[in-house]
Parts: sequence; structure tokens; C-alpha cells
Amino acid sequence: MEYEMCPYCGKEVESNELYEHMITEHMNEIRKEEFIMLDEMKQQHYELLLDLKRNHPSIFVKFIEELAEEENEKIKILCMKELISMREFEKGEKLFRELISKNNKKEIWLEYIIMLNKKGKYEKSIETCLQAMKIFDDEEFQARMKRIIEKARARL
Ligand SMILES: [Zn+2]
Repeated sequence: MEYEMCPYCGKEVESNELYEHMITEHMNEIRKEEFIMLDEMKQQHYELLLDLKRNHPSIFVKFIEELAEEENEKIKILCMKELISMREFEKGEKLFRELISKNNKKEIWLEYIIMLNKKGKYEKSIETCLQAMKIFDDEEFQARMKRIIEKARARL
């Protein structure tokens, strides 16, 4: 059996149980750590999470869902993007709606729309662009939405 050292408490944990251990024992520490702000993220934690995402997707989604409960817009946006990247579209949309109900700003709509396109949800993306165009009427934004719609339509 292989063992690895937990980066948080130093305990030797069976390799295939390390993530489960970290998520169950150290959720608060992980949350408080630099993971919270991408730009300040420690490389170690970042790699750890990428690994978690790849190898234990269901634990990763659970982790992201819990993290999304933080009352912090930046974190919620990050979680929304991660959920969509994991193809958890309903959960991602729920978080998106929660975000814009608190602070209805263009950037959040854009982040959401871009992720939908990345994951091939073109119809949903077009629908969301059209909704956004009814809310924000400045020319630059309207033009940007039109370009996104055009590209999405070409891929339908
Ligand atoms: Zn530990």
C-alpha cells in the first residue's frame, strides 16, 4: 500500500484516500488558503486541485459546491466557472442567477456566456446573450454580444 503525506496535517494517508482526507478534514484550511484568490494561489494548492478535478471529479464538484457558499463574489464566480467546466450546467446556472440577483453586472454575464461556449452549450449561450442585451444597452456590449451570437450560431 502506498502512503502520502497530507500537506495540511502531515499525517501519512493512503494515497487513494488522500483527497477524501483533505476534503473532509481540512476544508476550512483549504478555503482560507490562497486557493481563494486565483492570483495569489500557491502553486501546490493549485496543482492539488487540478489533480483532484482530473482524478476525483465528484469530490471536486462537492468541494466547489461547498466553496460556493462563501459570501464572496470572486469565489462564487470562480465556482460558477468550475461547475460549468465540469458540465454541471444546472448548478452553474443556479450560481449565475444568484450572482446577478445580488450584483447584476456585465462581467458576470460574460464569464457565464464564455464558459457556456467553451463547453459547447451554444443554444444556451445565444439565449443568455439575448437576455443580456435587453439589460445592458451600451453599444460596445451590444456589439460584443452580437459577435458571440454569430460565432455560436455558426457552430450549431
Ligand atoms: Zn491532514
